[in-house]
Amino acid sequence: MRKILASFLFSCLFFNCGETAPSQNSMPPFNTNEKTNNFSIIIHGGAGTILKKNMTPEKESAYKAKLEEAIRVGYIILKNGGSSLDAVEKTITIMEDSPLFNAGKGAVFTNAETNELDASIMDGKTLNAGASASTTTVKNPIKLARAIMEKSPHVMMAGRGAELFAEEQGLQIVAPDYFYTERRFNALQNIKKTEDTEVKQSNKQSFYNPDIKDSKFGTVGCAALDKHGNLAAGTSTGGMTNKRWGRVGDSPIIGAGTYANNNTCAVSSTGWGEYFIRAMVAHDISALMAYKNLSLKEAAQEVIQKKVPQLGGDGGIVAIDKDGNMVAEFNTAGMYRATMNDKGELSIGIYK
Ligand code: ASP
Repeated sequence: MRKILASFLFSCLFFNCGETAPSQNSMPPFNTNEKTNNFSIIIHGGAGTILKKNMTPEKESAYKAKLEEAIRVGYIILKNGGSSLDAVEKTITIMEDSPLFNAGKGAVFTNAETNELDASIMDGKTLNAGASASTTTVKNPIKLARAIMEKSPHVMMAGRGAELFAEEQGLQIVAPDYFYTERRFNALQNIKKTEDTEVKQSNKQSFYNPDIKDSKFGTVGCAALDKHGNLAAGTSTGGMTNKRWGRVGDSPIIGAGTYANNNTCAVSSTGWGEYFIRAMVAHDISALMAYKNLSLKEAAQEVIQKKVPQLGGDGGIVAIDKDGNMVAEFNTAGMYRATMNDKGELSIGIYK
């Protein structure tokens, strides 16, 4: 007991716990694991029909380079004894600033030709969480999610109110057209054409057409375990191309797009948001570990390979358990992903 108390006081002195004091719970559970010095980080840049035959060597190396740049930022933070929350936020910020991914700068377009961004973050130690939905002017929504977690009494804020809060917190604000990229705009026009035809032919709600939904994915996310045994996860997205304006997906929903609990695991999801919300993907994986004693791999397979496809959805997750085991599980043709362990070993994957 004295050892645990001493190690907690040590962490507070040297890693500035005070600065990130939870504003949501006055009595956080402090599920701090025994300090292990074991740390690891895993990221994704979206799942979908990512096929080698559709990829140029230039495009492939651009994705790999950005994934590596992003994960190395988080790795260095963890290696230097920083928090998993910092690693998650900073790593996601790099991906948000890249036009390659469907988050931040590279966000996809809504049917109203706007970009509406969602993000969330969760602290596995305290179970505090922050999320923002449908913002159009906040450059890095993951920073807003963290500010909501740490600087407000709320878990989730949306739209104009969330944007005003971001301004008050001194976060970088941009004009909505900062998020314009030709590639994403053209993707919207192509999808609109296809969907119009589909709707006329089948009279179905086009958003759910399985043949074209795959070109809509590309969210980013990160899960990390730090040297102090604390898990964290975060997710950021522009949503799905041609979504109705005002639509919110799973990425900012705690328990669906993001979940972290020091007793089990940290998870970030990517895929067809409507199904990920209904399957409560991220929390379900944690719950299978907590209540059924499944390993992280078994829990992730149960949810991603059985539960989500049975409902009709697809996508994937990245996750880390409390011992640092990492899992990237997806039921699509590919998922941009990378891992780094405490030995500094890097692994990058795109296809199955
Ligand atoms: N899950 C995201 C959403 O539905 C999309 C994605 O992961 O690419 O908004």
